Amino acid sequence: MSARNAPLEPPAPPQGGIAARARAAAAPPYLDGLNPEQREAVETTDGPVLVLAGAGTGKTRVLTTRIAHILATGRARPGQILAVTFTNKAAREMKHRIGSLIGQSVEGMAWLGTFHAIGVKILRTHAELAGLKRNFTILDTDDQIRLLKQIIQAENIDDKRWPARQLASHIDGWKNRGMTPDKVPQGEAFAFANGRGAELYQMYQDRLRVLNAVDFGDLLLETLDILHKHPDVLAEYQRRFRYVLVDEYQDTNVVQYLWLKLLARREDGNPGNIACVGDDDQSIYGWRGADVDNILRFEKDFPGAKVVRLERNYRSKAHILTAASHLIAHNEGRLGKTLHTDDDDGEKVMVACAWDSEEEARLIGEEIERLQRGGESLNEIAILVRASFQMREFEDRFVTLGLPYRVIGGPRFYERAEIRDAMAYFRVLVQPADDLAFERIVNTPRRGLGDATLKILHAYARANSVPLIQAAAVIIETEELKPKPRKSLRDVLDMFERWRNELDSTAHTELAPIILDESGYTQMWLDDKSPDAPGRLENLKELVRSMEPYESMAGFLEHVSLVMDAETGAEQEEKVSLMTLHSAKGLEFDTVFLPGWEEGLFPHQRALDESGKSGLEEERRLAYVGITRAKERARLYFASNRRIHGLWQSSIPSRFLDELPASAVEVAETGSVSGNWGYGASRFDNRESFSSPYDTPGWQRAQSRKASGYRTSQPRMIEGEIIARSSGGASAFEKGERVFHQKFGYGKIMSIDGNKMTVDFEKAGSKRVIDSFLEKQ
Ligand code: ATP
Ligand code: MG
Repeated sequence: MSARNAPLEPPAPPQGGIAARARAAAAPPYLDGLNPEQREAVETTDGPVLVLAGAGTGKTRVLTTRIAHILATGRARPGQILAVTFTNKAAREMKHRIGSLIGQSVEGMAWLGTFHAIGVKILRTHAELAGLKRNFTILDTDDQIRLLKQIIQAENIDDKRWPARQLASHIDGWKNRGMTPDKVPQGEAFAFANGRGAELYQMYQDRLRVLNAVDFGDLLLETLDILHKHPDVLAEYQRRFRYVLVDEYQDTNVVQYLWLKLLARREDGNPGNIACVGDDDQSIYGWRGADVDNILRFEKDFPGAKVVRLERNYRSKAHILTAASHLIAHNEGRLGKTLHTDDDDGEKVMVACAWDSEEEARLIGEEIERLQRGGESLNEIAILVRASFQMREFEDRFVTLGLPYRVIGGPRFYERAEIRDAMAYFRVLVQPADDLAFERIVNTPRRGLGDATLKILHAYARANSVPLIQAAAVIIETEELKPKPRKSLRDVLDMFERWRNELDSTAHTELAPIILDESGYTQMWLDDKSPDAPGRLENLKELVRSMEPYESMAGFLEHVSLVMDAETGAEQEEKVSLMTLHSAKGLEFDTVFLPGWEEGLFPHQRALDESGKSGLEEERRLAYVGITRAKERARLYFASNRRIHGLWQSSIPSRFLDELPASAVEVAETGSVSGNWGYGASRFDNRESFSSPYDTPGWQRAQSRKASGYRTSQPRMIEGEIIARSSGGASAFEKGERVFHQKFGYGKIMSIDGNKMTVDFEKAGSKRVIDSFLEKQ
C-alpha cells in the first residue's frame, strides 16, 4: 500500500435531521460501557491527546477502542495507523481485541507493535540508507558483548580493567539517548578506557557494518538517523501514519521520544493525531534510559493537546487498590492522582513469611493447588518476581507438582545453549556474513578448529574487512592451516554450501534436522553422558517443531529475534504465569503472588547503591505495578533466609511491607516460621542481575530474507575487494621476493595468484600462503 494513496474521507458529521439524531443516539456498540472520560479520549480523534491515569483505569482499553473507532468510522485504513505497545504479546492481544470490538478480523495492522518491531521494519525497508543490506542480522546482548570484547582486545586495552560488558552498557545508554558516536559528550567518553569510549563505540559501529549487523539500540537510532537525514522518507511516513497511538508512554526513552515526535508531526510541522497513554507511577525503566519527563512535557511538545484523566479503577478490589495507593504515596516525585473503585473490598492483601525460598515456593505451590481445586483457572494466576534468578525455584517446584506453567517476558527456551548453537547454524546458512554465529559453531562439535585456526581466520578477516566465512574460503585454498584443520574447515564450508543449495527446494523444517544431524551436532549430545543431555536433545526436537508455523528459515529467525514471550500463545492448556515484575506491566490476573519482598532483593540493592533515593522510588513503583496487577487476590511473601551463591543469609523484610496500610493487609500464619520480621541483617549480594526483558535476552538475531550464498552475489563483491586490494595495494609482492612467514620462516615467492602466493620456504618447503601473512624482507 502506497503512502501516497488518497486517504479515506471521514464520514460526514451527523446533521440536524431526525434520522441523523437517531443515528447519533445509537452509539456504536464498541463505545458501550465506557465512562464519559474514556469516551472523550476515544472520540477526540483529531489532534494530540494524552491520557494520564493510574493503574487499571482503562488506558489500554481506551487505545484499543480508539483504533476500533478510527477504523469503523473509516478515518484511516489499518495500514495508516501506527500503534506502539510495550511487548509483542500486548500487540497481539490488542489486534485481537480490536477485531472483536468491530466484529471482524483486522488484517493489515502492519504497524502495530513494539518500538523495536516497528524500527526493524522501517530499517529493513531503507537499509541501504544506513549502509546496511536488507538481510542484516540483529545481534543479541551476548553477541554484542563478544564483539566488543574482540575490539577491546584488538586495541590492546586490558579487558579485565575495562570489561566489554561495561562498554556495552555505555553504548546502550548513548543509543537510548539518541547519540551517535560523534555526539557523545567528551566527559562521558572518559567513562571508559581513559577517554576512548566514543572511539571504541565508532569502531564497534564500523564492525557492525562489516558484519551487516545491528544491535537493538540501532533499530531505533539508525531509523531516527534516516528520518533526520532524508526528509523525503520522513514525509512519506508522516503522510502514511494518519494516527499514532502509544501505550505505556511513561517508559519511553529519549530516542523513542524523538522518533515519535518526528513521526507524529504533519508535513506542515503541526502536531498530528497522536494519542499517548501512561501513568507516571508506573515508570519502571529509568535504569534503562526511560524518561518519565516525556509524559510531563507532552503538553509543551504537542500544543493544544487534550489531557484526559481517568480516576476509576476497574481492575482491582478495594483492599488491593488501597494497599497499592498507600504504598505509592510514599514516593515524593510524583504527580499524584486520585484513584477509586466502585467494587467491593474483596480479600485483604495477604503477607506471609517463609523460612527460605524453597519453602516460599512450596507454600505458593500449595496455595495454587488449593485455588485450582476451588475452580480457579491457572491462566488467572501469576507469580511476579523481582529478579529472574528467583524463577528457578518455582520452576523446579512446578515440575515436581506437575503444575503447568509458562515463563513470560523472556523466551528462556531460545536462550539455552543447545538452542543457541542450533540457531547459529541456521543463521550462518541464511546470512553467511554472520561472524558471531559462525564462530560459535565452527568448532561445535569439536573438529580440531580451535583458537589457533580462529586466530588465523580473524587476522585475515580483519586485514581484508571480510566476514570469517569468506576468510575461511580463501584460507582453505592455501597451506596456512595444517592439513587436518584445513580439511575440517573445508568440510564445514562444503556442508554449508550443500545446505544452502537445498534451502530453496527443501522445507526448512526438513532441512533443520538434516543440518543438526549432518553437522554432527545431534551426535555430540547423543555421545554426551551428562544427565542433562537427553533434555537437550528433546529441546532440539522442540526447536524444529517450533519452526513449523513459519514459511522459511529466515522468517523463523526473524520471529525469534523479535519475540519476547515465544512460549505463550501456541498451546491451549491452562498455565500459571511466571515472570519478572518488569514484564508484568499492563497485564492483569485474578491472583498475583509476589515473592521475595526482602531488603536487598526488593528493593534491589543495586538500585539503592547506584541510584539512591530515585532508585528506591523506582523500586516502589515496581511494587505498585506488582500489586495493581491483581484483580481479586494479592499475596506477598518474604523468606527469613535466602541462599545467595551458596551462602545462607538471614534477611530483613522489605520496607515496602511496612508501608502498606494495616487496614487492607492480613498477615498469614504460615508453616514452619512465625512472622519473625526484622531479625538478622542481610545485604544481598548485588551481583544478582536486575530482572528485565533484557537480562533474559529474548532477542536473538535473525535475518528476514534469505541471503545469497557466500560464493554468490554478496561475497563476490567482497572477494572483488580482496583481489583489488592485493593486486594493486600495499601488499603487492613480487615474484622472486624474499619474505618471512610467522609459521614457515623465510622463503622466496615462486608464483602469485591474486592474494595467494606459492612460496618456497627454506625449511618448510613449498607452500601456498596468503599475502597478508607475509612480511617483506
Ligand atoms: P495499566 O495501567 O495497568 O496498564 P490500564 O489503565 O491500561 O491499566 P486496562 O488494562 O485498560 O487499564 O483496564 C483494566 C481493566 O478494567 C480491564 O480488565 C478492562 O477491561 C477493564 N475496564 C476498563 N474500562 C472499563 C469500563 N469502562 N467498564 C468495565 N471495565 C473496564
Ligand atoms: Mg495498560
